[in-house]
Amino acid sequence: MIPAAFGYVRPGSLSEALGQLGESGEGAKLISGGHSLLPMMKLRLAAPATLIDIAGLAELQGVTVGENEVVIGAATTHAQLEHHAEVAKALPLIPAVAHLIADPSVRNRGTLGGSLAHADPSADWPAAMLALDAKIDVIGARGARSIPADAFFKGLFETDLALDEILVRVRIPVIPGRRVAYRKFRHPASGYAVVGVAVVVDFQAERCAGGRIAVTGFADHAFRASSAEAALAGYAGQPDQAERLLDLAFTGTVPLEDRFADADYRTQLGRTMLRRALADAMTSD
Ligand SMILES: Cc1cc2nc3c(=O)[nH]c(=O)nc-3n(C[C@H](O)[C@H](O)[C@H](O)COP(=O)(O)OP(=O)(O)OC[C@H]3O[C@@H](n4cnc5c(N)ncnc54)[C@H](O)[C@@H]3O)c2cc1C
Repeated sequence: MIPAAFGYVRPGSLSEALGQLGESGEGAKLISGGHSLLPMMKLRLAAPATLIDIAGLAELQGVTVGENEVVIGAATTHAQLEHHAEVAKALPLIPAVAHLIADPSVRNRGTLGGSLAHADPSADWPAAMLALDAKIDVIGARGARSIPADAFFKGLFETDLALDEILVRVRIPVIPGRRVAYRKFRHPASGYAVVGVAVVVDFQAERCAGGRIAVTGFADHAFRASSAEAALAGYAGQPDQAERLLDLAFTGTVPLEDRFADADYRTQLGRTMLRRALADAMTSD
C-alpha cells in the first residue's frame, strides 16, 4: 500500500498548471482531493511521475447561484455542495446526492471536478450531472470548450476530457418547478452506488410533462435512460405505468457484473431504485 516514488508540483495559476501538464506529458497527473487517485497509486494501479496539485487554484473555486444557472468550480468539495443553502434552494438534487457520497471524511476532501474527471462507473455525480443537463467547461493548450454532460461520459473511467485538459467548472441550468430525487443502493463498504438513479421531472397541471432519468453504477458508465424518459409525459404514478418505465429503463443496456452484484441482481436493484426515485419525485415539491 505504498505508492511508487513521484514528483510533486503546486502551480500558482491555471495557466501555470496547463504549462506543467503540457511539459510533463503522459507522466503527469492532476490531483485535486486525492480520494480516487491516491488509493489507485497505493494499489499501484496508477504510477504518475509527477503530481500537479490543482486543489488550491483560485480559478477552480467558488459556487455562484444565479437566476438561470448555478456555476460550480471544479475544486468544490462534496461537503461544500452538501451544505450550500443557496444551491439547495436552486438545485435540491445537488445536496441530496452529495449527502449520500461515502462518509464525511471523503466528502470533505473529494471534489466535484475530480469525481467527474475520474468517471468511476459507480460514482454518484455523473448521474446528477446527466439528469440536470450540466455543461462541463474545460481548458487545454488548444483553448477552452464546454462539453454537455451527455457527451462527457464515454466508458469505464473514460471521458471526453483530453490528457492535456483541466476541468474548470460545471454549469447547471436552474428551471423552477421541477421535482427531483436521487436513490441509490450503497455498496456496504465504500458507499459507492451499486446502482444509483437520479430523476428530474417537469409538471404541468399535476401531471408529469416529461423529464430526465440518469443511472449510475449499472453499466460501464453513467447513462440516461432515454426510452424511459420518452414515456414520462403523462406519467401519473399508476403501477402499470411505473412497470413500463422500469422495463424501458434497463432493457438493452449490459449490466456490470462483479462480486457484489451479478446482472440479475443489479437489474433488480436498478428497477427498485428507479421505482423509489420516481415515487419520491412525484411527491416532492
Ligand atoms: C473510501 C471511499 C469511498 C468513496 N465513496 C464514494 C461514493 O459513495 N460515491 C462517489 O461518487 N465517490 C466515492 N468516492 C470517491 C470520491 O468521491 C472521490 O473524491 C472522487 O471520485 C474524486 O475526487 P477527488 O477530488 O478526490 O479526485 P482525485 O483523486 O484528486 O483525482 C481523480 C482523477 O481525476 C483527475 N482530476 C482531478 N481533478 C481534475 C480536474 N479539475 N480536471 C481534470 N482532471 C482532474 C485526476 O488526475 C485523477 O485522474 C469514495 C472514495 C473513497 C476513498
